[in-house]
Amino acid sequence: MEAFDIVFLGAGCSTRHLLYELYQQPDFKKSRVLLIDDGSTNDRTWCYWTENKTEFHHLENYHWKTLEVGGKKWMAKEEMSSLTYHYLAGKDFFQFMESADYNRHPNFEIKTEKVDRIDKDAKGEFKVITNKGEHSAKKVYSSLPPKIKNVKNHILLWQHFKGWTIKTEKGTFDTKSATLMDFSVSYNDKFCFMYVLPFSDDEALVELTFFSNTIYEDAVYESIIEDYCQQKLGVQQYQILSTEKGKIPMTNYPLKAVSENGVINIGTSAGMMKASTGYGFLRMKKDAQLLATGENERRITKGRFKFYDQLLLYMLRDNPLEARNAFQSLFKNNPMERILTFLDENTTLKEEISIFLRLPWIPFIKQIPKLWIDKTKALFR
Ligand SMILES: Cc1cc2nc3c(=O)[nH]c(=O)nc-3n(C[C@H](O)[C@H](O)[C@H](O)COP(=O)(O)OP(=O)(O)OC[C@H]3O[C@@H](n4cnc5c(N)ncnc54)[C@H](O)[C@@H]3O)c2cc1C
Repeated sequence: MEAFDIVFLGAGCSTRHLLYELYQQPDFKKSRVLLIDDGSTNDRTWCYWTENKTEFHHLENYHWKTLEVGGKKWMAKEEMSSLTYHYLAGKDFFQFMESADYNRHPNFEIKTEKVDRIDKDAKGEFKVITNKGEHSAKKVYSSLPPKIKNVKNHILLWQHFKGWTIKTEKGTFDTKSATLMDFSVSYNDKFCFMYVLPFSDDEALVELTFFSNTIYEDAVYESIIEDYCQQKLGVQQYQILSTEKGKIPMTNYPLKAVSENGVINIGTSAGMMKASTGYGFLRMKKDAQLLATGENERRITKGRFKFYDQLLLYMLRDNPLEARNAFQSLFKNNPMERILTFLDENTTLKEEISIFLRLPWIPFIKQIPKLWIDKTKALFR
């Protein structure tokens, strides 16, 4: 059994952010570090909005200053003054991370193994058991997918999507403007919308997204996308260059930042993905900075934003059409940048009240007793 100071489990988004930040700390370089990943391909792309440039700026393939959100009879198109929406391909992010200095540090090792479990011995040392052996560690950071044991009294929905990157015969798209949510599509009264990212005037990602608890056969997504391309985008002839498909958990399950035996969870397993939107890339980056600088107590989402997310989750589960209305009102009645700042949890309470006053608030109030009952039941389980 080999002994390490620190073992990282999973070499995805959150671990790479954290390693990058930790290696900026001089003391960290003295630690003997092991990174274990099962070697699955991680070919997703990340989109996010920022005010300032990040260190990945040179890797971001596309940017949009104008965003659109709309429904059957309206479309809001707004050029943002301070925020920019970015697109970063996973392969470029991982290439950048794999070429960072820490990968060549003599104390840093990578192993392709599948983690089975993590035990802790009487002396407080961790034992990471994999399909190929055992490793001991003084500290473990884990980004392995969370084990949600029992969702009773909690909500677990999925953000599930399928999209095509299409190439049209002639220039069709406005490359300056991306469509964040177009609610003009519908399927069985579910919460769904189209997402369109134009890469050039004849190439765009056209994606259908649902927030629900049922994942559908591919044909369901495909027929809606096909219809949207023809009816809404007015594109009859196109070639499908690539397909993107995925699902992201949206939950109020209490994912722990530190597990019961002291493993430090990061990324999805620490609840770093925003429950009401599924965005997590920049939240994981911020979390990595807090961990690296020892500001652990600041890691968790502010209480009131958790509360707002939960109300929305209940509405999405029980009244998807009301949730759809609420999302539309949110964007219809407020400036785009204010909403994005709110979704980043950077608004003040006063700004939030001003946002809520422009929303149909009765559907939100209806969710509060359900949340309260579930919380009480969870306490007595
Ligand atoms: C398809 C998709 C698209 C997304 N798009 C966006 C987006 O546009 N913007 C945004 O902000 N967020 C997005 N997200 C959400 C979030 O940013 C990503 O899911 C992010 O990759 C989560 O990072 P993570 O470190 O928690 O997990 P991952 O990046 O998934 O890393 C976990 C790693 O653990 C490894 N692993 C798993 N099990 C084992 C095991 N037993 N042993 C060893 N290794 C193991 C996996 O192979 C993987 O490399 C998206 C998520 C998905 C699924």
